[in-house]
Amino acid sequence: MVDYRAFDSTPWSHMKVRTRFAPSPTGFLHVGGARTALFCWLFARRHGGTYVLRIEDTDRERSTQASVDAILDSLAWLGLEPDEGPYYQTERFDRYREHIDNLLSAGNAYHCYCSREELDAMREQQRAAGEKPRYDGRCRDRSSPRDGVEPVVRFKNPTDGDVVVNDLIRGEMSFANQELDDLIIARPDGTPTYNFTVVVDDLEMDITHVIRGDDHINNTPRQMNIFEALGGELPAYAHVPMILGADGQRLSKRHGAVGVMQFKDDGYLPEALLNYLVRLGWSHGDQEIFSREQMIELFDLSAVNKAPSAFDFEKLQWLNQHYIKARTPAELTTPLSEQLALLDVSVDQNIDLTPIISAQHERAKTLREMAENSVYFFEDFEVYEEKAASKNLKAAALAPLCSLRQRLEGIEDWTAEPIHDVVVATAEAAELKLGKVAQPLRVAVSGRSFSPPIDITLEIVGKTRTLSRLDQAIDYIKMRE
Ligand code: GLU
Repeated sequence: MVDYRAFDSTPWSHMKVRTRFAPSPTGFLHVGGARTALFCWLFARRHGGTYVLRIEDTDRERSTQASVDAILDSLAWLGLEPDEGPYYQTERFDRYREHIDNLLSAGNAYHCYCSREELDAMREQQRAAGEKPRYDGRCRDRSSPRDGVEPVVRFKNPTDGDVVVNDLIRGEMSFANQELDDLIIARPDGTPTYNFTVVVDDLEMDITHVIRGDDHINNTPRQMNIFEALGGELPAYAHVPMILGADGQRLSKRHGAVGVMQFKDDGYLPEALLNYLVRLGWSHGDQEIFSREQMIELFDLSAVNKAPSAFDFEKLQWLNQHYIKARTPAELTTPLSEQLALLDVSVDQNIDLTPIISAQHERAKTLREMAENSVYFFEDFEVYEEKAASKNLKAAALAPLCSLRQRLEGIEDWTAEPIHDVVVATAEAAELKLGKVAQPLRVAVSGRSFSPPIDITLEIVGKTRTLSRLDQAIDYIKMRE
């Protein structure tokens, strides 16, 4: 076991680091979220701290159980399970209510009875006067309720001074309180709003480092003001830049896979995606390959890029190929059988997939590709790859294929070595180059022009199937002549 604390030399080494990943369960976990989770996890590991998962499910219309499940499955697949949680915000309404009451009684929040019409008129006036539309605080000093109106609760934001965020990635950012109006923290039905629940949770969960996407930057000064009003010690903030597609636009579905589980279905290994994500915006010299231990040892928020980074599928494939090679064939049998199942190929539980994997181990960029290239090991086919057939299944191949069929039928011990000998002997007897025999044979048994070495391919396909596929190819040539 590595003692992660041993690497600790940072100013917060005296405190117990606590990070949180706080997704809203309104869709799948996309790569941006997964990277945030990874950074939260790494930072906690690096400093011997705790990584908390909090499900921000207060938007009841948009939050779904299916999405919660997708988040938990994705984190489990990536090996980023939380040390603590998941906590669910919908189970914490009492806590939010109590803090709202406290703010009201301390005079740090107030009831606002303004109607929609009033607010619209106010904004209209501000616009007309060339000002930025904002709530002007007119209910701050109201002492009596308005009959028949359920009020919202607004936070009394300080009216002067600046909020300075010392962001661990972006450096110092300053926001004038003048620009921040009094945020609604509870709706008329008493339910708390997003920015408020985040602060209560970060406070009560003793979060020391808020690491999140930079789409939250504008929330940060508001949240810091609420934090101070609640009497909490401010956490440190780190805003991670967004991920773009190759076209410079924010990464979205139209760029291809963005949901973590989609990468699994597309045949990527979790260690490849993690390695890809850690390098997306973070670097350590020009090193590309990082084991989990190395990531933990080397990760540092100050080395995270301020600029957005673009998602590069080719690089992810390159890493995936690296990690496919790094696993033994035995360690790839489960993901390969999952891929075959996705292709609706039924594979007998007892079949040993390792020879199929060994045969393709060096070449496959994804397990999907490996599975697609393995279908003929399990299923017969009637259609050949067009080019492969027109080049190889023609009259000249008829005699060698017939001779091969006869010799192969005689093999008792159906293994690569005697198969190899038969292929060589057939070529020699016909005075043909090995390729002139092996390639038509390959197309006959696999339907395509690429396969693992021919003797290994035949061994895996099996004797009965090999012979019947040879018959099929012989008929095919005869029919076309
Ligand atoms: N729930 C927010 C989101 O999914 C994250 C909030 C936060 O990290 O503070 O975007």
